[in-house]
Amino acid sequence: MTQAASPTPNTVTHTATNTMADIETSHASASAVTDTTVTLCSSEAEKQNAQIRSQFPALHQMLDGYPLCYLDTAATSQKPQMVLDAMAQFYANDNANVHRAAHQLSARSTLSYEKVRDQLQQFLKAERREEIIFSHGTTESINLVAFGLTAHVSAGDIILIDAAAHHANIVPWQELAKRTGAVIKPIPLDQTCRLDVSAYKTLLELKPKIVALCHVSNALGTVNPVAQLVQLAKKQGAITLVDGAQAVAHLTLDVTEIGCDFYVFSGHKMYGPTGIGVLYGRFDLLDTLAPLLTGGEMIKRVSFEATEFGSLPNRLEAGTPPIAEVIGLGAAITFLQTELTPQVQAYEAELVNYLQSQLRALGEVHLYGAFDDNIGVVAFNLADEHHQDVGILLDQQGVAVRCGHHCAMPLMQSLNLKGCCRASIGIYTNKDDIDRFVAALVSVKDLLL
Ligand code: PMP
Repeated sequence: MTQAASPTPNTVTHTATNTMADIETSHASASAVTDTTVTLCSSEAEKQNAQIRSQFPALHQMLDGYPLCYLDTAATSQKPQMVLDAMAQFYANDNANVHRAAHQLSARSTLSYEKVRDQLQQFLKAERREEIIFSHGTTESINLVAFGLTAHVSAGDIILIDAAAHHANIVPWQELAKRTGAVIKPIPLDQTCRLDVSAYKTLLELKPKIVALCHVSNALGTVNPVAQLVQLAKKQGAITLVDGAQAVAHLTLDVTEIGCDFYVFSGHKMYGPTGIGVLYGRFDLLDTLAPLLTGGEMIKRVSFEATEFGSLPNRLEAGTPPIAEVIGLGAAITFLQTELTPQVQAYEAELVNYLQSQLRALGEVHLYGAFDDNIGVVAFNLADEHHQDVGILLDQQGVAVRCGHHCAMPLMQSLNLKGCCRASIGIYTNKDDIDRFVAALVSVKDLLL
């Protein structure tokens, strides 16, 4: 998994080959960065960005006389025309249930549906297509794993969870702990809001059964060196799950290189539709998961005496799947594979740096966990103003940001915050968006302070 290097100084680039010492040193140097004067990319990058942006119809609208400034991509991304077309095309031409019927429409829809599994195998660099399971989203994917592992877990087993985790990567493990008597232990963050690697190493000495990590924090945008963290966990024999919900739209992924047992994400955060998610699982372990959902599609033989389950991937995909959404996801993958070039990744990194530097320059703005290798997200509060007030006043100027605890209450508690505002960018965000957002925040500041 790599993020393209940004030409700005002090940028930390995460690659799967960074050693832990590299990561620790780069973290230290990143935290020493105060302000940077950020120059944005060439006009070539701007032209490329404009071409990408033109593919997103929802971005070209006015709100109360202001052009929409959409900085809530971490909550859900906007969708390119090709995703909308793929889904409309499916319903208009091929709509039929998959896997079941002898007729041609069903054959076409099954082919399109299963083709997306192949696409995902290639996209994630998984070894086998059966390692790709369709779910309804990251939340369901983690529930599939946490429920499916029940028989693997005994009373007293330890489950380590990243303190920056989204609730979706906390609550299913708590439920697993309730069922089995396992014990949850958070992996703390250090003072700079990064996962505390030395505390993590100490916790690993307890030989945890499961380690649940986030790849990129949805609240702060900080990036975990997941390949190294997984490697350390594997040495202690732990089962590892990485929540990639905030990584998948920005980074180039390689689950084999990361080495995790499970990697999960949602379609709607990567320019695809809502209602579709992915669970990647290492075949041998995935094959041992008890199915959370049972019923049609996942069986080999059923009688009133006993049921024999089918094999992967169907065994974990009971019932009629979200077929149109899978097809929309396939189009989103094609979109990302075409458009998310190293240059575009570098442009995204520069926009985040630019956004941070503009907010620092404003004064009276608190930034949280802000490093120049953050992905997609800038978390902030305006002086002591309530985040909700700031969000509403920004919305009145056409600026969409997220305000609240960002489904990361334990993280907010550790930061001693009730909540904060979060501006998040996507492949279509441009410098103008950032400038309009900052100008709107200046007027909010003038009004409130
Ligand atoms: N994990 C992270 C890091 C997220 O950002 C989100 C969505 N905010 C989720 C999990 C849950 O994703 P979904 O609601 O699509 O299931």
